[in-house]
Amino acid sequence: MPSLQSVISCLSDYDPTALPVDQANRIIGEVVEPVRGIEQLPIRSALDRVLAEDIVSSIDVPAHDNSAMDGYAFRSEALAAAQTDMVELEVIGSVFAGGAGALAPTAVQAVRIMTGAVMPAGCDTVVPQEFVETVADGARIRFAADCVRAGDNRRLRGEDLARGQAALPAGRIVQPADLGLLASLGIAEVRVRRRLRVAFFSTGDELRSIGEPLEAGCVYDSNRYTLHGMLRRMNVELLDMGVVRDDPEALETAFRTACESADAVITSGGVSVGEADYTKQIMASLGDVTFWKIAMRPGRPMAFGRIGSGEGREGRDSALLFGLPGNPVAVMVTFYHFVRAALHRLMGASVPSLPLLQVRSAQAIRKKPGRTEYQRGILGRATDGKWEVRITGQQGSGVLRSMSEANCFIVLGHEQDSVKAGDPVEVMLFDGLV
Ligand code: AMP
Ligand code: MG
Repeated sequence: MPSLQSVISCLSDYDPTALPVDQANRIIGEVVEPVRGIEQLPIRSALDRVLAEDIVSSIDVPAHDNSAMDGYAFRSEALAAAQTDMVELEVIGSVFAGGAGALAPTAVQAVRIMTGAVMPAGCDTVVPQEFVETVADGARIRFAADCVRAGDNRRLRGEDLARGQAALPAGRIVQPADLGLLASLGIAEVRVRRRLRVAFFSTGDELRSIGEPLEAGCVYDSNRYTLHGMLRRMNVELLDMGVVRDDPEALETAFRTACESADAVITSGGVSVGEADYTKQIMASLGDVTFWKIAMRPGRPMAFGRIGSGEGREGRDSALLFGLPGNPVAVMVTFYHFVRAALHRLMGASVPSLPLLQVRSAQAIRKKPGRTEYQRGILGRATDGKWEVRITGQQGSGVLRSMSEANCFIVLGHEQDSVKAGDPVEVMLFDGLV
C-alpha cells in the first residue's frame, strides 16, 4: 500500500489547508487498497457482498428458443405464402412449458403452444391465441396475415445470457437481481471478499451516552448512532467502542485496540484546527496521518491516514483512519463523500459514482466559489409538474434534523457561484429502489 506521504509528494498544487474535495478523494483512492481475504458463500448469503470473481455463463439462458405467449407456433413461410389476407393452418398437437416436444409441423401446420414452451422444430413465430379463430373444433386455426410478423413472440436461445458471456464482474456488490441471475445459471455458491471490520468511537469530554444524565454544557453522543446506521447500510462488521474521554492514555488505548481489531477506524470530533484536546496528537503519533482543511461545507476538518499499534503481524496491526469532524451533519457529509468510496475500495467493490441529477432550484441559494457545498434538499414536484428542489431551512452543521428532513444533497460544485431562484442545480438522491 503506497504511503500517504509518497502520494502527496507527487502533487504539485497540494494545499492541506484548502484541499478541494476531488483532490482529497484522489489521494484517499490512491492510498487505499482492497483487502485480500475471500470466502465462498451460498448465493443468498452473498447479497450485498462483493464478488471476488467474474461470473461467466456456462449455459445458454434460455436453453432453447421458446414462446413468449400462449398461442400457436408456426413457420413464418406461411405468412408469405398466404393467398388472401387470412392464414389458415392445421393444428397437429400441443406443447406445454417444461415439455420437450417432438412435433415438426410443415408450412401449412401449427402447434398449440404455452408461454415458455420450447418452439417446435422449424417454427419461428407464435400467433397469440387472442388473434386466432378456431375452425372445425380446433382442428384448424385462422388469423389475419398482418397480425404477426416473422419472428414475433419467440424468445431466442441465449438471449438473456449466452454461454461464455460475462454475467457479473468481480467487484460487483451483489443485488437482488443478481441472486436471480446466478440462480438462472444454476450457480449455488460464489466467491466473495471477506467483510470489512470497522471500529468507531466518539471523542469529546462534553459527550454523554444515552441513559446518562445530561449536565449543563453536555450533549448526547449522536454521531455513533448515525455512523452505526451508515456503516450497517454498507454491510460491514461493526465495532462500536463508545465515547472515549479526552485523555491521552484512554485515546491511545482506544486507537491501538481499534487498529488491532479492524480494517478501518472512524472517529468523530477533536480534529478541528486549534482544538485543544489530545485526539490529533495521538493520531499523529500512531502513524502516517494528515490533517486536512477541506474546501467544503459542511465538514472542513478531517484527518486521514493509516495508523498502527506496532504490534502483531504485518498488516494485522494497522488500519485506515478517518478522523471526522464533530458536528453531526459534518460527520454524515464527510462519511458519504469520502469514507463511503474509501470503504468500497477497501472491500474490493467497484461502485460507479452516484448520479447527479439536474433540477430547478425553488429558491435563491448563496454560495461562494472555491468550496463544494452539500446543502440538504427536499426534491419534489412543483405545481407545474416539473421536479424542483428546495433547501430544508436551517443549514447549520449541527442541525441534524436537516438530514432527517432531506431526501437529497444539493451539490454546489467548487467553482459554483450563488444560485438564483429557477436556476438548475445538481442533486444527489439519498435513496433508490434497490
Ligand atoms: P469538535 O469537532 O470536536 O470541535 O466538535 C464540534 C461540535 O460537534 C461540538 O459542538 C461538539 O459538541 C459536537 N459533537 C462532537 N462530537 C459529537 C457527538 N459524538 N455527538 C454529537 N455532537 C458531537
Ligand atoms: Mg471536541
